[in-house]
Amino acid sequence: MSADCLDVVVVGSCMTDLVSQAPRLPKAGETIHGHKFFIGFGGKGANQCIQAARMGARTAMVCKVGKDFFGDNYIQNFKNNCVSTELVKQTDEAATGAASIIVNDAGENAIVIVAGANMLLGDEDLQHAWPVLSRAKVLVCQLEISPDTSLQALRMAQQRHVKTIFNAAPAIPDLSADFYKASDIFCCNETEAELFTGSAVSTVEDAGRVGLELLKRGCGSVIITLGPQGCVVVQSADATPVHVPTSKVTPVDTTGAGDSFIGALAFYIACCPELSLVEMAKRANLVAAISVQSVGTQTSYPHRGDLPAELF
Ligand code: ADP
Repeated sequence: MSADCLDVVVVGSCMTDLVSQAPRLPKAGETIHGHKFFIGFGGKGANQCIQAARMGARTAMVCKVGKDFFGDNYIQNFKNNCVSTELVKQTDEAATGAASIIVNDAGENAIVIVAGANMLLGDEDLQHAWPVLSRAKVLVCQLEISPDTSLQALRMAQQRHVKTIFNAAPAIPDLSADFYKASDIFCCNETEAELFTGSAVSTVEDAGRVGLELLKRGCGSVIITLGPQGCVVVQSADATPVHVPTSKVTPVDTTGAGDSFIGALAFYIACCPELSLVEMAKRANLVAAISVQSVGTQTSYPHRGDLPAELF
């Protein structure tokens, strides 16, 4: 990998989803038979990186997986999606992050997440990634790894004027003010925005108001995603928040829609810098709207060839 040719670097998580479908959720101590089992690739960081790569961005993933079958398998998944794995480290101190998911016939689920190796990604890994990170066009971070590692990566990138997208998910209470200052674009969904501000977000107007509040904490811009309502973009404290609607589609599975949106946004920021942020958000909405029309997380993410030419 040539260090000066990357569009998007993601510092974040990899999770293997172990999904069992069963008639009902088992009680404590009970064993029941399910009807289907499958393994999926997930983790917010990896999802976002793979969506950006499928759109044509030159990407690298900075993450940690276990020295185990799931880790080997995940590395192969990155390679299959043309994501550079030079900065994917394997450790024997923890297992690859895993989400054990049981889904019942009513669509309800019970999930245990073990972050495992993801939590071991730290300073040494970021120092190792520095030559690549410091020359990338865009860095994307989330909160499925140690928050200290995410913050350090954002600060390192900002120091070199690499554009930072911070997806504040999953939300943590009392998010340090430093995260806002280190974010060129601060992105979250409506539930996360509620947690960060303590204000209910149930309408586009609410999202605009809350977006302005988050903007005042020091980030460059704020995007709040609103599921079928698209998103709201807030760029300046004295400008009106912009609602960016999306196309009306029949959703089949919305798992990972937010990650598809962020991955697509990272692609546009890195590869189409001439577009306005509102136009990028509009196109990212359309990419994410395609992802909700088929089953799975990464399996539902469109490739460049599946998308209309107007999106490029
Ligand atoms: P998250 O997956 O983090 O909860 P959202 O539900 O806000 O995030 O969805 C992220 C983006 O995915 C939205 O901004 C929108 O572009 C798209 N999206 C999600 N649900 C739908 C839907 N039902 N119809 C069309 N687009 C959707």
